[in-house]
Amino acid sequence: MTITTHSQEETADVGRRLAPTLDRGSVLLLVGDLGAGKTALVRGLAEGLGIAPEEVSSPTFTLMQEYRGGRVPLIHVDLYRLNDAREIDELGLEELGLDSVLAIEWAEKLPRPIADAVEVRIEHGDGDERRLTLTPSGSSALPS
Ligand code: ADP
Ligand code: MG
Repeated sequence: MTITTHSQEETADVGRRLAPTLDRGSVLLLVGDLGAGKTALVRGLAEGLGIAPEEVSSPTFTLMQEYRGGRVPLIHVDLYRLNDAREIDELGLEELGLDSVLAIEWAEKLPRPIADAVEVRIEHGDGDERRLTLTPSGSSALPS
């Protein structure tokens, strides 16, 4: 599914609308350049889960943040600063995410695919235009 947005707010809205479809153990893989709108989408996602969206800052410098107080906990990870596959592996994201919704920015850096995740790829268009492509990834994307 592809969605075109024209503002940060519209991108956040996609996250807001995704929220009811997600539950403990759900994984959202966010792929896109710096400034694509990955954090904006997570802000909307947080809001949709019942978490104050202003709590969501860019975790670029903190690597990982956990937000509670919503319908389910949200773990927000940003792999931007990590380049070592082993370092990323050692985060143990799959275990950490079992009891939460897990949203991962720069998910293309994951050394191994995470099964049953939803990938959101965000591409820049002209100006404030962004093209969001949502695809199930991991095992659910494989034909059975
Ligand atoms: P990322 O986390 O992908 O690096 P951010 O969400 O932090 O990106 O920032 C996106 C930037 O792009 C913000 O400054 C936002 O205002 C701007 N922007 C402009 N148009 C859009 C859009 N359609 N969707 C999301 N962000 C947009
Ligand atoms: Mg970001």
